[in-house]
Amino acid sequence: MTQRTIVRRVRGMDTADGAGVKLKRVIGQPALDMLDPFLLLDEFRSDQAGDYIEGFPDHPHRGFETVTYMLAGRMQHGDNKGNRGDLGPGSVQWMTAGSGLIHSEMPQQEAGLMWGFQLWVNLPASDKMIAPRYQDIPPGDIPVVQPADGVTVRVVAGELAGATGPVSGIATQPVYLDIALDAGARFDLSLPEGHSAFAYVFDGTSATVAGGPLARSELAVLSKGDTVSFAADEAARVLLVAGRPLDEPVARYGPFVMNTPAQIHEAIADFRAGKF
Ligand code: MN
Repeated sequence: MTQRTIVRRVRGMDTADGAGVKLKRVIGQPALDMLDPFLLLDEFRSDQAGDYIEGFPDHPHRGFETVTYMLAGRMQHGDNKGNRGDLGPGSVQWMTAGSGLIHSEMPQQEAGLMWGFQLWVNLPASDKMIAPRYQDIPPGDIPVVQPADGVTVRVVAGELAGATGPVSGIATQPVYLDIALDAGARFDLSLPEGHSAFAYVFDGTSATVAGGPLARSELAVLSKGDTVSFAADEAARVLLVAGRPLDEPVARYGPFVMNTPAQIHEAIADFRAGKF
């Protein structure tokens, strides 16, 4: 058994994206540019409508996947191919942008709390130009397991305690878990040894992850290994995400993530020519 440890800690950076949505960017900022295969992690959380009401109007994506996990509030996602997804509390949308689409993400409320995450997951070179694919997952389709006393886990992707998350067919073989720890709870999680992995505390004040303290709004980059330990003195929730690193060149320009600069120029030209 190889225990993972904390390699580094990163705090989210306050910023805005879309048409002015305030959010905390945790991966995809100067302190943590990427964590192969993860390109970006945003936490959005506000009960002030002015912080989110303008949403994310039409924007392109090519070459990667966007994963939205809603904790509170309602968003509608749509694209120029006619796809629509209504995302309410506890739901997940795993969107494989592939060759490209023009996407929008707009709030469906004018007041109240809007809270959730968006993660960007890279695609291998061989899959960057595949047809777009959506996995829209309502809350009731996400298994909830109790792998130890005082530990409740929603399994979005990966396997835990006999449950398999509903997200399927993803190249990077992701593990995506929402882990709720009661006060005094502890638990050891098995993970694929070579996967990149991070933990992010998003509720409560802190937790002990991989043997070290982790404060709310702090992300821990974890070492390689097959086990991660969790403990909490007070109730906390932790997002644990892992995936197979691609170890391929990354050429990145905003919402286009390819392998070479030439492919980025092609993406921009295709977008301008209306080929998305
Ligand atoms: Mn989008």
